Amino acid sequence: MFQTFKGISFAVAVIFGCSKKKMEDTSDEINLNLRVHLMRGTPWVHPTRVSMESWVTKQDVSDTIFPEINSIWSQANITWNSESIVEENIVVGSDYQTAVDYIVNSARDDEGVSDPNRLPYLYGLMQPDNRSSNAQLGTNLFHVYVFPFTGNTSQGNAMAGLGYHTVVGQWSNKHTDSESPEKMYLTEDHSKFVRGSLSATIAHELGHVVGLSHNECKKCLMSSSGYSMTDTQIETARAKATNRVK
Ligand SMILES: [Zn+2]
Repeated sequence: MFQTFKGISFAVAVIFGCSKKKMEDTSDEINLNLRVHLMRGTPWVHPTRVSMESWVTKQDVSDTIFPEINSIWSQANITWNSESIVEENIVVGSDYQTAVDYIVNSARDDEGVSDPNRLPYLYGLMQPDNRSSNAQLGTNLFHVYVFPFTGNTSQGNAMAGLGYHTVVGQWSNKHTDSESPEKMYLTEDHSKFVRGSLSATIAHELGHVVGLSHNECKKCLMSSSGYSMTDTQIETARAKATNRVK
């Protein structure tokens, strides 16, 4: 009798334990603070002669981009709060033109890997005072820099090696296969992927920032042509995010 009772309580404890764990995994909203930097300056000229001015406004970010990022991330119950939206002048130092020329000409290699050498140039164009200090790295402060362009067929980069000062482009020629860049869409209908959107690109890069890598899933957020996340990705992202809010 006692044995049976013990067995039942053990079973109940296991079931209760599992369901409790599951609830904790998904029911607590995690709030992360995102600073969006709208990079301002003279338009960057692409080799195809397209003049790529900065056109995304603060209102685009607050009224369209944040709601879309959060609609995508709601499946993980992670909310990105607007810590601030900064209009930031691109640093024009002695190597400014070298940097811009490098970025607008950079391309993927034969394996499809985007040129890593363009990333330190992009980092160098950010105002140092608006970046995270060394002490702030790893805290609950995330950055997205909205540059005119981030390289041919590139839409963005999480900047893993540069403190995750994530970059995205307002112009892209991914959908034209390196021909003339066009303005990114701010959002795109979730039911039919055409070329992706700036909001989805930011949501994707933030996925890298909270520990996700590309996967073979065809229409997922981390394959750049969809919006869904797997249960494992949600678990990984939430674990990383939880570490950042401590
Ligand atoms: Zn990616």
